[in-house]
Amino acid sequence: MKINTSCPVLVTGATGYIAGWVVKNLLDKGITVHAPIRNLSNKEKRAHLDELAENSSGQIKYFESDLLIENSYEEAMKGCELVIHTASPFVMDSKDPQKEVIDPALIGTQNVLKTVNEVESVKRVVLTSSVAAIYGNGVDAQSVDGGIFNESMWNTTSTATDGEYSYSKTIAEKEAWRINEEQKRWDLVVINPSFVLGPSLNSDAMFESKKFMLQMGNGDLKSGAPDVTMGMVDVRDVSKAHVIAGFNEKAKGRHILSGETHTLLEAGGFIKEKFGDKYPVPTRNAPKFLIWILAPFLGIKRNFVSKNIGYKIDFDNSKSIKELGIKYSPVKKAVVDFFQQFIDKGLV
Ligand code: NDP
Repeated sequence: MKINTSCPVLVTGATGYIAGWVVKNLLDKGITVHAPIRNLSNKEKRAHLDELAENSSGQIKYFESDLLIENSYEEAMKGCELVIHTASPFVMDSKDPQKEVIDPALIGTQNVLKTVNEVESVKRVVLTSSVAAIYGNGVDAQSVDGGIFNESMWNTTSTATDGEYSYSKTIAEKEAWRINEEQKRWDLVVINPSFVLGPSLNSDAMFESKKFMLQMGNGDLKSGAPDVTMGMVDVRDVSKAHVIAGFNEKAKGRHILSGETHTLLEAGGFIKEKFGDKYPVPTRNAPKFLIWILAPFLGIKRNFVSKNIGYKIDFDNSKSIKELGIKYSPVKKAVVDFFQQFIDKGLV
């Protein structure tokens, strides 16, 4: 499906971490970006986007939209051939997961795609899903060939009360495929990133990737890190993948975006290697039983500890390399650049 670069591109959740880099990529190509955001009067939250637009050949136009308000993306979508739907709450410590995470993910996807069905100009939707829609917990790798997850797999273990965020991503992506399959005008291309790392274009924003990486340098894990293995990927590679998925006529289906797989200890090692002993990064793994006992005080569920600590996992990223042409940058660079931003802002 050919997408015209002279048409505006809608990016939902434009104020977000990943979306910021997607918007930058589009603006740098001279494209007009339609940016629906929750609160138009909050100029601070979009100041970095204004700056990106000023320094690029593209333009940005703002709209006020909320995932939970029906038809609220209609105005922003008019005239767009490409919709990049990134907005979805990435919150790991919500008090009411149904209301704060699951509903906005599912109802938001339904609302956005209902409008896609109504706005005739739309030809393609790129959806930011996650590897969380592919697997639920590290232990799931034991029932997978070689412990390697690929795009043919779905998370079958997370539920609305156990792994709520992963559940929200799974049901939202499934719903997107269901809605897409009911029609023929627009196609759906899905990006499934693993844990996204690297500098933010809004250095004042707080988001899950940043909370995680801050823990690496603020002393929280100094006495020992949980032995958790995660896929990790540079935010700049993820944003490129979204834009390629939007304009490459042949792009099709799901795409795992994951540069390398590391433990938290290894990620801490990248910081130590670059910055020496200046920061209290973890230097050893904490025993699983200790993390299990301390879990409530660390803000993690004991269930998570049981199902994720000590399991090795990996991802097959070959489709993103072959079909989207992604050349992964080293995760070490993403970690170091991210951490440097914290140093510059006095956060560590
Ligand atoms: P952010 O928290 O930075 O971005 C989330 C975006 O969703 C924000 O722009 C937020 O708007 C918007 N949003 C949340 N709720 C609503 C709502 N009710 N109405 C409108 N907009 C809403 O996180 P990320 O950039 O990390 O996440 C972006 C996407 O990438 C999400 O879909 C996430 O699941 C996915 N993802 C992230 C990964 C990661 O490691 N970071 C890994 C894999 C997938 P506002 O700014 O107003 O809060």
